Amino acid sequence: MQRESILKADYSLVLATDLDGTFLGGTDQMRSEFYEYLQQRRDRMLLIFVTGRDLGFIERLYAEPGFPQPDYIIGDVGTTIVHGDTFKPLPEVQNWVTERWGNANERIKRMMANEPGIKLQPVATERRVSYYYQPEELQPSTVQKVIDAGFDCILSADIFLDVMPRGIAKGPTLLKLMEVLQLKRENVIPAGDTLNDLSLFETGLSAIAVGNSEPKLVEKIQTMENVYHSPHPGVAGIWDGIKVYGKHQELVA
Ligand SMILES: [Mg+2]
Repeated sequence: MQRESILKADYSLVLATDLDGTFLGGTDQMRSEFYEYLQQRRDRMLLIFVTGRDLGFIERLYAEPGFPQPDYIIGDVGTTIVHGDTFKPLPEVQNWVTERWGNANERIKRMMANEPGIKLQPVATERRVSYYYQPEELQPSTVQKVIDAGFDCILSADIFLDVMPRGIAKGPTLLKLMEVLQLKRENVIPAGDTLNDLSLFETGLSAIAVGNSEPKLVEKIQTMENVYHSPHPGVAGIWDGIKVYGKHQELVA
């Protein structure tokens, strides 16, 4: 059967994976083995990247031989949603984020200009403002200021601070994309490794936290029955999780 003739909603495995530490995690050998496994079965699954990275970073990954290209990309911590081949936005999801943000970039930068322990990241982002932060210098009042102004604040990996449109994160954007594509909940498996992946796990979808997950995330998932914490790092953890959920059977030739 041709890939194009299958409705998106019919894929019984939809892997919605974070990149750094997750789809890009594990040893070089683990990565090449897993990528090859996926490439041989790409027509039987839907692949979605859900990352804090921007599209420029992902475009550079495509240059790596054998690197699996996704069907969709949720980038910039959930604020950019594009097709994996053309990088064209999906208006139904992208506009939903844009409306919530309301062109706030300059306003946020002015508001945060004199806050201690943060430094603007050198990335051009349209629907979020991203900082590096020093955990010992960041003030709770800075985070509160963001919330009081009507935005969300996501801290991750003890270094990244993202000011986000209220209610937008990787998880909510994935749910919105699933709604637009009419994907069934039981088929979608998110995978991640840091706190900015927590919203993916809070969707209640059967999910994978890979073996190298940051301690703060591991602490949060202790009580989440929908999250499988694999002992294996990066791609090996994803692969393990796919098997634990029995989804590898969907990929048998
Ligand atoms: Mg990560």
